[in-house]
Amino acid sequence: MPTRLAPDRTVSTVCGFCSTGCSLDVHVRDGRAVNITPTAEYPVNLGMACPKGWEALTPLAADDRATRPLLRDRRGRLQPVSWDEASAAFVDGVRAVQATHGPDAFAYLSTGQIPTEEMALLGTVAKFGMGMVHGDGNTRQCMATSVVAHKETFGFDAPPYTYADFEESDVIVLFGSNLCVAHPILWERVCRNPHSPDIVVVDPRKTETAMAATQHVALRPKSDLTLLYGLANLLIQRGWTDDRFIAESTAGFDEFARHVAAFPVEVVSEGSGVPVAELERLAATIHRGQRVSFWWTMGVNQSHEGVRSAEAIIALALLTGNIGRPGTGANSITGQCNAMGSRLFSNTTNLLGGRDFTNGDDRRHVAGVLGIDAARITDRPSRAYDEILEGIVSGEIRGLWIIATNTAHSWINQTYGHDVLDRLDFLVVQDMYTSTETARRAHLVLPAAGWGEKAGTFINSERRIGLVQPVADPPGEAQPDFEIFRRLAAAWGCDDLVAEWTDPEAAFRVLQRLSAGRPFDFTGIEGYDAVGAAGGVQWPHPAGSPPPVAERRLFEDGRFFTPSGRANFVFGVPRPPEEPLTPRHPLILMTGRGSSAEWHTGTRTSKSAILRSLAPEQLYVQVSPSDADTRGIVSGDEVMVTTVRADVRAKAQVTPNVATGQIFLPMHHADTNRLTAASFDPQSRQPSYKWSAAEVRKVTPEDGVRASNR
Ligand code: SF4
Repeated sequence: MPTRLAPDRTVSTVCGFCSTGCSLDVHVRDGRAVNITPTAEYPVNLGMACPKGWEALTPLAADDRATRPLLRDRRGRLQPVSWDEASAAFVDGVRAVQATHGPDAFAYLSTGQIPTEEMALLGTVAKFGMGMVHGDGNTRQCMATSVVAHKETFGFDAPPYTYADFEESDVIVLFGSNLCVAHPILWERVCRNPHSPDIVVVDPRKTETAMAATQHVALRPKSDLTLLYGLANLLIQRGWTDDRFIAESTAGFDEFARHVAAFPVEVVSEGSGVPVAELERLAATIHRGQRVSFWWTMGVNQSHEGVRSAEAIIALALLTGNIGRPGTGANSITGQCNAMGSRLFSNTTNLLGGRDFTNGDDRRHVAGVLGIDAARITDRPSRAYDEILEGIVSGEIRGLWIIATNTAHSWINQTYGHDVLDRLDFLVVQDMYTSTETARRAHLVLPAAGWGEKAGTFINSERRIGLVQPVADPPGEAQPDFEIFRRLAAAWGCDDLVAEWTDPEAAFRVLQRLSAGRPFDFTGIEGYDAVGAAGGVQWPHPAGSPPPVAERRLFEDGRFFTPSGRANFVFGVPRPPEEPLTPRHPLILMTGRGSSAEWHTGTRTSKSAILRSLAPEQLYVQVSPSDADTRGIVSGDEVMVTTVRADVRAKAQVTPNVATGQIFLPMHHADTNRLTAASFDPQSRQPSYKWSAAEVRKVTPEDGVRASNR
């Protein structure tokens, strides 16, 4: 549906890449969005943007935009069809799978890249209208671990902080976070801190952030949990705890203290590779701090024991009383621009509004708010992402609808990922581009508008609801996902469900009603204009609240969302990673963000010549000098990185920034996840991208033949 845009204006809209949630002023001249400047007064980015934000308009003009629906014909070619034909093909294809193999046989995979209103509409239509039981999001890959950790400790998925805490801390401890590269504007907030803070980076690699830190704790990969328990034990043994906070605001401390007593500093040093003196220095730094903030991101979340590690970080904040005050907190920084919206409203593994499909009261409440029969809401929770893919392998799932994500590039152990998608009877891909690894495998492609071409809201890492506004019309027949979901609901015959969801702002009002009385209650927001005027609104903001302030944190009264009001200490027994190192694959392969100019699988950032010029042209692998020496490798050599799953060519980068026995590959390259081992955190089902057994060697003439045969 074309928007009516005024010819000359400036539109403030939240960036559509990462979870920082910067506001960008898009300047429209003669009806065309011509350039961007970061919004000066927005409380998140304070007039700053990273390279991706500056180049946010470029991906909209790419040649490979999906501009018409495409349907695969009998000869296997994707052919343009009308929207009516595409909608009918969707309905026929999904119903055929469900009729033959049961309602569970068709699932969907969604994203953290679309507005909350679109996610909620998708989840409502797919699950309550089309009878799908299984749906998950690509957010499983980045922050499922934090969700579970927050629920088990705080009683709700509630990141407690506000970005001003970066500027208020006197000690900042970053676990598994290369903030400089992954969240550059948040690093800028650290640089604005006037208190000369101690900055501690706990990371196996000497990342850009570690180089700028006052202390780099280079632990052995995946020894996080052991190190965290050792640190907690040190603090407790030295009496460096906040006993009053523990007594008044927490539960389970005595059991936790007994558990971590089994982690004396010498044992922890042995297990983590961190010298005793360095562990003691870190404990003393935390003790000395008056306002200590603990931050974590994918180095913790993407682990075989991520939930327990995140809970151990939360335990450090609780036992030292560093939560609920300025400059403190146990703070998970998330990944995608609307991962936080997905956590509340995607209707995938959680029922709308952070509720539970298996709880009858929750189902009846949601049905009442939506004005539908509660019997339309399934009482079964969804399979997680990896379980949906396993369902395809086992033949239980035969059809898949993928929205705004590139499974065939990003999922762990990619060779397997390709094979899985190719087994489907019916694959629908709804995306901006026809060229992604996933869209190329589709039976039906639905052309979607991108960020900048539609309206809605995102929720950023600090719980700030921000406004997304259109600055251009979608190309050709592409439509906002919101309109596509409504169109498919009508074709299916379930549009009665969403009669009230006439546009994104109307849907926002439904979401407000779903939030009433919940920890994230935002019933006090007076519509989209109020979100924009306030510079975003951090939840909660219930009806009757005073006008929103620029920065706000949770738990200032020492009360949490658990039934007792106390935060829980939760712990477990450390386990080794699943894939053992072997004589053939003796190195630990870690993957991660390689450049602030690249976003995930590069479907958008690769469209910008500027961003391409800021990113490496060729896949590189970082190798330590000693490992390079023993293998006769020098920087610039073409090498083969091997695991039991695949061999991948890369350019060697010999650097002391990785330790002996470890190698690092950036995640943005399509080949990287051909190498990674599919293991998962048992509580969150989040993939562990940071540990695979690997080897690296110089290429041989035979490799050329093997590569060309692949
Ligand atoms: Fe800000 Fe993230 Fe967008 Fe960069 S990508 S401008 S850091 S929101």
